Amino acid sequence: MLNFLPSIASCLDNEHIPWKNILIGFSVAQFVFDSYVSYRQYRVLKDKTKKIPPILKGKIDEEKFAKSDEYGIAKSKFGFVDNLFSLILNIVVLKYDLQPYIWNLSGKIGTKLISYFRPAISVSGLGIVTQSVFYFNLSTFAFSLLNLPFDYYSHFVLEEAFGFNKLTTKLWVTDLVKSNVLQVVLMSPILYAVGKIFDKFTDNFIYYIMGFIAILQVLMILLVPTVILPLFNKFTPLEDGELKTKIEDLARKLKFPLDKIFVVDGSKRSSHSNAYFTGLPFFKQRIVIFDTLIEQSSVDEVVAVLGHEIGHWKKNHIIQLLLVGQFHISVIFTLFSAVYQNKSLYKSFGFNIESATGQKSVGKKVFLNNKFPYLIGFSIFGELLKPMDCLVQFIMNLFIRHNEYEADAFATKLGYGKELSQALITLQVANLSSMHVDPLYSSYHYNHPTLIERLDAIEAEIVKLEKKN
Ligand SMILES: [Zn+2]
Repeated sequence: MLNFLPSIASCLDNEHIPWKNILIGFSVAQFVFDSYVSYRQYRVLKDKTKKIPPILKGKIDEEKFAKSDEYGIAKSKFGFVDNLFSLILNIVVLKYDLQPYIWNLSGKIGTKLISYFRPAISVSGLGIVTQSVFYFNLSTFAFSLLNLPFDYYSHFVLEEAFGFNKLTTKLWVTDLVKSNVLQVVLMSPILYAVGKIFDKFTDNFIYYIMGFIAILQVLMILLVPTVILPLFNKFTPLEDGELKTKIEDLARKLKFPLDKIFVVDGSKRSSHSNAYFTGLPFFKQRIVIFDTLIEQSSVDEVVAVLGHEIGHWKKNHIIQLLLVGQFHISVIFTLFSAVYQNKSLYKSFGFNIESATGQKSVGKKVFLNNKFPYLIGFSIFGELLKPMDCLVQFIMNLFIRHNEYEADAFATKLGYGKELSQALITLQVANLSSMHVDPLYSSYHYNHPTLIERLDAIEAEIVKLEKKN
């Protein structure tokens, strides 16, 4: 398919390429760029001379407006410290070869655990695929432990100060335990299967990986709303009444394949609000509304929000997004195939691929007997992709924003323009989202247009429709 890849691959397999320094350089560059973008937004928020935008005059009070600035400033300071910590951690891991260290440790732990069931393993040692699974679980566990103070601060200090946090310490702990257990249960078999694919189809893994990911995506769309999310939240069918009748009428009118409407107790954790629908393309869709949205908005405003959501469905945005996602993943794996068997890359990070009698470790170094640890390769490759990811983020945001405008226009054409505008204002005020946004910050971080941009576009659409009639 791509004939130039093998020649690029052999060029890159060069002992003189300073992989480690390149990676650290990328991490620092990313941090500097992120911080610069956040600083631009910080300056906008700090600016005391700015006024409430004309389109919001009389629709929002001064106090809320000032509070949204304070919230933005607090989040931006926290984000800076959090990013700095991640950068330092990343550099320490790379500089001091902690990856081979964790790899060796996970080999020991894995062998010990598995030898209870299969005593022979203590002699032969773990295969590279099984050891990768243990490596993943151990390193994610270690990083989430290191991240605990930040997680705690974010919920119980930052969100708490602005009245968003509804979590209790007990719920926070049970959430953490549940999500970590879930991660082990879900990710271990997935990584094992991916490892087997790499092991068996080393040279043309891409087709098998893409097939596997497509199946996984379908499974996730089916399982996330029905099995996984209910572990954390309660989903109750929407009670009969005006809201339910109006949503069902709208769905019928638009031929939207409505399955059931659920209300989720989002208020259990936070007072941020939302609504969405889930389901496989071409099948029945379930609508989920946050209890907070119902509390904060009128019936017609909630229906207007759902008009926008159904707009996404009508305009095939979900399928487009799935296809774009598949394309993106296929590009990533195609590029990965150029570095997957790059011995010099692994060697820079303490993993020696050369022949050895079985897998062994000497000091901090690991010898892998001509096997490639796909997971290590992929995580290093992920760091190398950072500059491209940054660009992809800008492009994806543009694409999603375009869809958001289309869905807003759709709801406006249904006659819900005024209600949708009001619902958006209510959501924005309730979530204390920033009213003023730096353009670079917004195009990098926001996949939705800003409130003002959306209100202006809806207003323009209303005027256009009035002229027509
Ligand atoms: Zn939308």
